[in-house]
Amino acid sequence: MAKEKKKEKPKREGTLTKPYKKGKHCPKCGPGVKLADHKNRLSCGKCGYYEKK
Ligand SMILES: [Zn+2]
Repeated sequence: MAKEKKKEKPKREGTLTKPYKKGKHCPKCGPGVKLADHKNRLSCGKCGYYEKK
């Protein structure tokens, strides 16, 4: 009666896209669109607007 327990693989963390924290809104698209935070710049994925940090 040996029960084999399958080891559950740990869920991958880090692959989830983090919700943007207090981000700037795109001045072109309006308050509904936030700018993506990059290393040295903020960019809008919608219209392509970006600004340097
Ligand atoms: Zn935009």
